[in-house]
Amino acid sequence: MVSLFQIFSVGIGPSSSHTVGPMRAAQQFISDIANNNRLGEVANIRIELFGSLAMTGEGHGTDIAVLLGLEGEKPENCDPTTVGPRVDFILSNCTINLLSKRTISFHKDTDLIFHKGRRLPYHSNAMRFKAFDQYGAELYKQIFYSVGGGFIIDHEQIFAPVDLEVSSDQPFPFKTCEELLSHCRKEGKTISEIMFENEKALRTEEEVRSGILHIWDVMQDSVKRGCTTEGILPGGLEVKRRSAALLRRLEDKENQMSKDPSHIFDWISLFALAVNEENAAGGRIVTAPTNGAAGIIPAVLHYYMKFCDNPTLDGVVDFFLTAGAIGVLYKEGASFSAAEMGCQGEVGVACSMAAGGLAAALGASNAQIENAAEIGMEHNLGLTCDPIAGLVQVPCIERNTMGSIQAVNACRLAMHGDGDSIVSLDQVIKTMHQTGLDMKHHYKETSEGGLAIHVSVGIPEC
Ligand code: SF4
Repeated sequence: MVSLFQIFSVGIGPSSSHTVGPMRAAQQFISDIANNNRLGEVANIRIELFGSLAMTGEGHGTDIAVLLGLEGEKPENCDPTTVGPRVDFILSNCTINLLSKRTISFHKDTDLIFHKGRRLPYHSNAMRFKAFDQYGAELYKQIFYSVGGGFIIDHEQIFAPVDLEVSSDQPFPFKTCEELLSHCRKEGKTISEIMFENEKALRTEEEVRSGILHIWDVMQDSVKRGCTTEGILPGGLEVKRRSAALLRRLEDKENQMSKDPSHIFDWISLFALAVNEENAAGGRIVTAPTNGAAGIIPAVLHYYMKFCDNPTLDGVVDFFLTAGAIGVLYKEGASFSAAEMGCQGEVGVACSMAAGGLAAALGASNAQIENAAEIGMEHNLGLTCDPIAGLVQVPCIERNTMGSIQAVNACRLAMHGDGDSIVSLDQVIKTMHQTGLDMKHHYKETSEGGLAIHVSVGIPEC
C-alpha cells in the first residue's frame, strides 16, 4: 500500500509525471551505474522520450528534469532558483556533471531525443536511458515509466514497482473504499485513524504528525510566494500571474465580506491560483497528488483555516490522513496519470481528496466523507487534458480554482446528508478508470486535441 508521504511529496513544478518522475528516473539510472562502480567508464549518455513525454515534455520541463536528475538532483531537494542557470550552463558548455562526480560531453540535439508520435507499450510516459563508454559500447540501459503523481516504474519491475514505500506490517491494508470502511466499522475508528495506524508501521507517531505539518508548511509557503510574485509565466504563452493583484483587491474589499458572502469563492480561487502559478513557474510546491492539480488541496485547507469555525492543527492532520487514504484508493483502483486518465485523474482526484479531507476536518462521519469524495469525482468524470502549447498553464491554473470550489461544495452537500448515496466511491473510481481508458489519446496530455488545437497561439522560437 502506498504511503501518505508518497501521495503528498515536496517537489518542483511544473508537472509530477513530466518533471518530478523523469528527474527521479534519471537520478536512479545514474545512481544505479555509480552503485555498480561503473560511473568512471561513462563517456556518453542518451535519453529518449516517448508518448506524452515526447509530445508535451518540452512545455512540461521534462528535458530540464532529466538533465538535473543526471547531475544527481532529487525533486524534494532541488532549489528552483538554481535550475535556470544550471541548465544554461549544461547547454552552453555542452557538458554535464554526472552526480556532481564525472563531467562528460552532452549535446542536447543528439543526446536527448523526443520521439514524437511513438510510444512504448506499457505506458504513454516512457523514458529510455542508455550509457556508453569511450568506444561507443553500451554499458547500461534502463526504461522507466512515469505513471503519475511523481511515481516511476522500472520496466524490469513492472509487476513490482520500485518506488512504493511498503510495509507488510501495515495493520489495515485496503485497496477499495469498502475494505477501508470495513476496517473502520470493525475497529470503531475514523478513516483518518485507520490511515494513521498504517503510517505508524512506517514511521513513529511523532514523525507522521511532524511530516504532515511540514507538508502543510510547504503548501503555505507556496501560497505566500504565489501571492507576492508578479510578472509573466515562462514558456512563451505570455500568461500573466494574477494572484498578487487579486490579493490586493480582496484585502481592499475585506470589509465587504458580510455584504457579499460569495467573496469567499474569490479567496479560494486566490489560494489555488497562487500555488498553480508557482507550479507553472517551476517553483517549489507539494505534489497533491499531482503538480497540475497541486493548488486544490492547499486552497481547500486555507479555506478551512480562514473561514471555518474553530480550525485546528489536529483538523489539518485529519484532513491530510483522510485525503491521503482517498488518494490510495485512486492509486490502487485507477491512476493519477493524465496520460492515462485525462484531467479527471489530476484535478478530479485532487477535488475528491480535498472534499473528503475537508469533511473529516469538519467532523463528518465516515459515510459522509465517502460521499463527499464520491461527489468530488462524479462531476469531474470525463474531464480531458488539453494544455495549450503543452504548458501547465491554460486551462490548468484556472481549473484548480474550479476544482477547489467544487470540493468545498461536494463536502457541504455530503454534510447536509447522512452519507447515504446512490453512487459509492468505489463505483465512481471504477467509472473514472474505465472513462480514462475509453478516452481518445488526443485528450490525454498530448496537446493534440481540445483547447490545445482550437486556440491558436504564436510562441516565438527560443
Ligand atoms: S489539463 Fe489537467 S491534467 Fe492536463 S496538464 Fe493541465 S492540470 Fe494537468
